[in-house]
Amino acid sequence: MAAARRTHRRTTTCSRCEAPIVWVTTAGRGTRLALDASPDDHGVFQVVTGGADGLIGRPLAGSDLAAAIADGTPLFIPHRRTCTANKSHNPMPDDVRAEIARALGRSIPGETS
Ligand SMILES: [Zn+2]
Repeated sequence: MAAARRTHRRTTTCSRCEAPIVWVTTAGRGTRLALDASPDDHGVFQVVTGGADGLIGRPLAGSDLAAAIADGTPLFIPHRRTCTANKSHNPMPDDVRAEIARALGRSIPGETS
């Protein structure tokens, strides 16, 4: 399959839920980490080029994170936190969760608004 445009992002899909993910090397520890391929409002990883895999994920916190959000920097969330394959053992049916969320006046947990 041909990419619509050239990109250095090494996007692939999760082997368990087939969501698009991108592999990065974490700054500091240097471990490999799968991030969701799309930026997320709750993301904390800034992705920059470099490292063995071509991409480095820099976890941001505190004022660094606030500054990145203020600048509109795309921030990414670790895929393990959103992987639907991780939620297969949730005993609470979706309609029950939705009912509770409605009762509490909140959006459904796990859904981005
Ligand atoms: Zn997954």
